Amino acid sequence: TEKIPEKWVKTTCGYCSVGCGMKVGVRGDRAVAVRGDEDHPVNRGKLCPKGLSEHHTLQARSRALRPLLKQKNEFQPVSWDTALDTMVEKFLSVQAKYGKQALGVLSTGQLVTEEFYALGKLIQLGFGTSNYDGNTTLCMASAVAGYKRSFGSDGPPGAYDDLAESDLVILIGANIADNHPILCQRLAENRQGTVVVVDPRVTKTAMLADLHLPVKPRSDIALLNGIGHVLIAESMIDAAYIERHTTGFEQLRTHLAAYTPSHVAGISGLTEEQVLDIARRFGRARAPFVAWTMGVNHSTQGAETVNAICNLSLLTGKLGFAGAAPFSITGQCNAMGSREASCTSSLPGYRKFESAEDRAEIAKLWNVDPSVIPTKRGHAYPDLVEGMVKKEIRALWIIATNPLVSFPNYDVLTQALGNLEFLVVQDGFHPTPTTLHADLVLPAAIWGEKEGTYTNSERRVSKVNAAVPPPGEALSDFEIFLRTAGQLGVRDKLFPNWTGPRDAFEEWRQVSKGRLCDYSGLSYELLETAGPIQWPHPQGTESTGTRRLYADGRFEHSDEKAKLFCIEWQPAPEQPSRQYPFVLNTGRTVEHWHTRTKTGEVEMLHRMSPRAWLEMNPTDAERLGLEMHDKVTLVSRRGQVDGVELRVTSIIAPGHVFLPFHYFEYNSNRLTLSAYDPISREPNYKQCAVRVERS
Ligand code: SF4
Repeated sequence: TEKIPEKWVKTTCGYCSVGCGMKVGVRGDRAVAVRGDEDHPVNRGKLCPKGLSEHHTLQARSRALRPLLKQKNEFQPVSWDTALDTMVEKFLSVQAKYGKQALGVLSTGQLVTEEFYALGKLIQLGFGTSNYDGNTTLCMASAVAGYKRSFGSDGPPGAYDDLAESDLVILIGANIADNHPILCQRLAENRQGTVVVVDPRVTKTAMLADLHLPVKPRSDIALLNGIGHVLIAESMIDAAYIERHTTGFEQLRTHLAAYTPSHVAGISGLTEEQVLDIARRFGRARAPFVAWTMGVNHSTQGAETVNAICNLSLLTGKLGFAGAAPFSITGQCNAMGSREASCTSSLPGYRKFESAEDRAEIAKLWNVDPSVIPTKRGHAYPDLVEGMVKKEIRALWIIATNPLVSFPNYDVLTQALGNLEFLVVQDGFHPTPTTLHADLVLPAAIWGEKEGTYTNSERRVSKVNAAVPPPGEALSDFEIFLRTAGQLGVRDKLFPNWTGPRDAFEEWRQVSKGRLCDYSGLSYELLETAGPIQWPHPQGTESTGTRRLYADGRFEHSDEKAKLFCIEWQPAPEQPSRQYPFVLNTGRTVEHWHTRTKTGEVEMLHRMSPRAWLEMNPTDAERLGLEMHDKVTLVSRRGQVDGVELRVTSIIAPGHVFLPFHYFEYNSNRLTLSAYDPISREPNYKQCAVRVERS
């Protein structure tokens, strides 16, 4: 009976951005089961292995239970008052000594929107630093920057329904079978359309597709440009749409002239016929849907690749109606909330730091002088790390992320952290590789223990509820932010009469009013009774949300037109050489989430995928005299990883190897390089040069 729930609490999955609805079974103050919510429009009762076992994360042995302050190199438990007093005093003294911007903050896509909103105010107005970013820059920054450039604003235009309603689904750099499993279920509802996967590996998703295009790594821009070339050459574009709703067509036409099918075939490794075939399929499709994830974003040309994708939808006028959209599938459960409501790459409500009008508007809403609103964003994540290396950033607050496993080029990060005078890590788990570096660990509640909202990849806002209380002395991130504001003496000014996340949601609704991401018609009550709703949902709206953006062809640039971009293909920043002959690709597996702080603690998931592996083509294995299950060492110009089990498989092409990035013991980021998209600042995780030796 101890596993039989006494009640079920509705909430939303806290892992990926699919945003599945679920019910947590509770007995006493323990979560004993999880099941899918049959009424939820996204997953209709289904869950993937991570979601189904999510309740086990709440009782993990490695939960952080009390604040810990490092004294003489040992962590000592301290009270919350002492912890926050110490944190605020250290941060203020660093700022007094080196300037306000010497404090950096790194957050996450894992908090509820209410926490992102509160944290943004606390950092910008309370501590007065703009050096605040999230691990979303390691994940979705290229999609954000690409949307802003093409459409004038962030915000995925499509919906999950398009997976079933499109007659041509192209998944480019998106292995949804491993990374967004429930979306595969939605794709399976598409009975008539063709599914094409563009990916260098024969991923599980590629195996499910009607057509797999095994492009060479980082040749996607050439292929996209080649499709554009054929669309124009064979008059499969919508001239009236282009004229009415876009700018830059003549330049793009000239630019694409060079991307003939034979030129693209030479770059991509596809045949001319394959290039022509996919282009014609696109041109003839009633409603093409192009979705992407990290294969596109994790690149020094990620934002530009997004622009090249958007170009195709705009050239054909095929977006804004059922089945047709360019669509980024986000990574984390609430990366969208961070993008919309925090103060990282934009001001709340997708307002621009650079716009005097936007700054004046947010200042008015916050009842502060416009001069306190920064005129440009602070350091993005990689630049924060660079700032630490240069000793410009002297104190850092890390919230719900584990950069020692997730940030590229491990040695640079450890050097950066070593330069800090004070490091605070706020997390639901301890020890993690990152909390062990901290001077102060703040124990935080996690999914299942707190209330708020998440927004998924299709802009759908879902309620998140606490099923059980947090363990030990852990507090919700929201409560930690409010208490920190109290310690800083700004709580009444920034958060007047706030007692819980609902207060933040009410203010955020007003702040979002009139913006593309308009939440003003939403309320906790509506989300609880009507279920999750897609923004924009303005006040007074009777509808059940906005299925698709830009249906009227009006975009968010000041002239209301979308921009077509001329994007030039460039090779990856590090090429294989005699010494490092393989291209290393990194990615995920269905059983694990990011750096395994959560899923590594779930026995079922750990048993299914207990260690990393290296995929290598049989011809390469034979040439190196290696066999299945041999232990191998990978070496790059930056470091090495030892003892990885070899999987000899033809799902990977000769000359390429693949290593999952979840495992600290086999940390792929000891190998990856410090190369970033100059526009989005997203790292180039997907290609670096390595050699492979027997361990
Ligand atoms: Fe959770 Fe994503 Fe799995 Fe759905 S698909 S259960 S949101 S991890």
